[in-house]
Amino acid sequence: MTKKNNNNNEEEEEFVSFGHNLNTKIRFEDADEDETAQGSAEAATAQDEPMCDAADITTDAADDTTSADYYFDSYSHFGIHEEMLKDVVRTKTYQNVIYQNKFLIKDKVVLDVGAGTGILSLFCAKAGAKHVYAVECSQMADMAKEIVKANGFSDVITVLKGKIEEIELPTPKVDVIISEWMGYFLLFENMLDSVLYARNKWLVDGGIVLPDKASLFLTAIEDSEYKEDKIEFWNSVYGFDMSCIKKKAMMEPLVDTVDQKQIVTDSRLLKTMDISKMSSGDASFTAPFKLVAQRNDYIHALVAYFDVSFTMCHKLLGFSTGPKSRATHWKQTVMYLEDVLTICEGETITGSMSVSYNKKNPRDVDIKLSYSLDGQHSKISRTQHYKMR
Ligand code: SAH
Repeated sequence: MTKKNNNNNEEEEEFVSFGHNLNTKIRFEDADEDETAQGSAEAATAQDEPMCDAADITTDAADDTTSADYYFDSYSHFGIHEEMLKDVVRTKTYQNVIYQNKFLIKDKVVLDVGAGTGILSLFCAKAGAKHVYAVECSQMADMAKEIVKANGFSDVITVLKGKIEEIELPTPKVDVIISEWMGYFLLFENMLDSVLYARNKWLVDGGIVLPDKASLFLTAIEDSEYKEDKIEFWNSVYGFDMSCIKKKAMMEPLVDTVDQKQIVTDSRLLKTMDISKMSSGDASFTAPFKLVAQRNDYIHALVAYFDVSFTMCHKLLGFSTGPKSRATHWKQTVMYLEDVLTICEGETITGSMSVSYNKKNPRDVDIKLSYSLDGQHSKISRTQHYKMR
């Protein structure tokens, strides 16, 4: 899954595009990431509001779709699916999971939550699934039906157009739930709730969820040039003070690729979610962290990224969206700090991060970041608030 309105333009992309390293090793490279700093789960705040408003759009003919429809339902357009399909780290991992672990799929009833073009359903059908229910709420469901037919899988795959929360499934239980629900910062757009809803309603006892683990990590970077360009820019725009926008810009995490050379500290695990067991409220949490500087440098931002894994595979499969791994369309999530931290090798930033769905709009994510550094050159303690929207 990906975000609707990516505010990054080509120019910005170019600015940091050296982050696209060609390292083909995509799995769990950060050796120091396994140190857990997991916080306690807080009460549920997310509501059952799916991100896709397509049910309001009743036209069947794709040609009738207007730009207004796309505004509310960007997944109806093929462009976003093209971007996801061409993210080979993402799509190949799902393909490997299914093709290299046919024992998980063969003769099983599968539910594909948010099927898009139907790609995951097609993988499952090819791997010998008994039946696949492909549920998709956007207009892309019509294309998925055609794609299924064109590839000769109409007997095996049933495409159901509608929200997972609203459709009727023609089977009481499924053996496998597969979904690509991850958003920017893992949780943006809140599609995880739809997967948990489907799991609670239809997954048979002992059934599996693919993927079944997702972990969020944090690290710190030097980013003077880009912070200057994106944040300090507003201080003087053609000679005018627009710093009121700077405050807004600081609050919006930036989704972009980070070059691994910018990383100043180690990485810490904030939270692991077990998709097969967690409740919806577990996606809201507070986690402490401790980041240790690996060199003398300045820190301008903290960076969050996630890994997902499929632990049911014969050999563990998964991918990381971290700055040391091959770039994905999720990039990383950069949160700029009010202060520039002058940090010495071995010094530690301690703090905590709270993540919750916004109460007014549960697709948005509120992040509260507290950090302190008691270093030789910087003594700072501060709390900042961010909002992914
Ligand atoms: N599985 C596809 C698409 C992933 S993107 C692939 O891997 O390429 C996520 C898809 O889920 C989008 O097409 C979106 O329209 C759909 N979706 C999101 N929430 C949904 C919901 N509640 N019910 C049904 N579909 C949903």
